[in-house]
Amino acid sequence: MPMALPGPSPIVPTVDFAAQGVQHGHLRLPHSRDDSAWGSIMIPVCVIAQGEGPTALLTGANHGDEYEGPAALYELARTLYPAQVTGRVIIAPALNYPAFLAGTRTSPIDKGNLNRSFPGRPDGSVTQKIADYVTRALVPLADIVLDLHSGGRTLDFLPYAAAHELPDKAQQARCFAAVAAFAAPYSMKMLEIDAVGMLDTAVENAGKTFVTTELGGAGTATARSIAIARRGVLNVLHHAGILSGQPQTGPTRWLDMPSAACFVCAQDGGLVAFAHDLGDALRQGDVVARVYPLGRTGCAPMEYRAGMDGILAARHVPGLLQAGDCLCVIAQQREEGI
Ligand SMILES: [Zn+2]
Repeated sequence: MPMALPGPSPIVPTVDFAAQGVQHGHLRLPHSRDDSAWGSIMIPVCVIAQGEGPTALLTGANHGDEYEGPAALYELARTLYPAQVTGRVIIAPALNYPAFLAGTRTSPIDKGNLNRSFPGRPDGSVTQKIADYVTRALVPLADIVLDLHSGGRTLDFLPYAAAHELPDKAQQARCFAAVAAFAAPYSMKMLEIDAVGMLDTAVENAGKTFVTTELGGAGTATARSIAIARRGVLNVLHHAGILSGQPQTGPTRWLDMPSAACFVCAQDGGLVAFAHDLGDALRQGDVVARVYPLGRTGCAPMEYRAGMDGILAARHVPGLLQAGDCLCVIAQQREEGI
């Protein structure tokens, strides 16, 4: 029996993606609820277009507690003018808007983790409907997609742009060229702990150029991480040929996550005392962190050691840990780009 075609998305844009000029509007997602019987979720969106050229889709707050993306993209939407653009820029600075308003990774409405909900469903939960609209309405418009992440409330990262190893090596080369263009202090060949349901995978499967980032975290954004995000977004638009003029490049250090040994997973909960900070060089066997049981004194901490040589690229925040948490990520340094 043939699979039924998915129905239309319930999301209605208040902007015309085919129009020239600048438009600030919304993706309107009907959401009937106690405090608004015929209400809608109004996801901010901006389109800036002039002439014929490529389209870039720029997204932030795919996870609601990550702030470099929104900080860069609300500012870009306010300051970018059609006369500067050849082609089109679509900006969604707070993609999982309910989660962004709540300051949480997942949506308070359905607990949906947007970046585990792709390709989504038009007849699913609120979060699944957003994913479906992005997959079927926005990604097909785009030549390049830049999805800005950071660590949220429970991780902190070295600031890096990243792409994945892909079966299509020409597409992979396009993705890593865009990562290099972003010119974050670090550039990563990223291995996902769980790639199912990610926007990354949906865009890559559509054959498009995809760049993601991890630009900091710990539930906030710093002056430095915001500056990296803003500069990187403009650099990618230069790279795509949408902005003319010279990008503001700078040195980047290439990193690789060659295997699952990169991830250090907490076996038990407790108080974490890191022995190294982000960016520190590690040798295999070095103690990265000690985790103290909470309930009594006199207990030895559990020691976690580096499974390989590398540098500390991500770490857990805040100070208390639960069993199964990602304690840290160790990445290998590469002599050159991918
Ligand atoms: Zn994220």
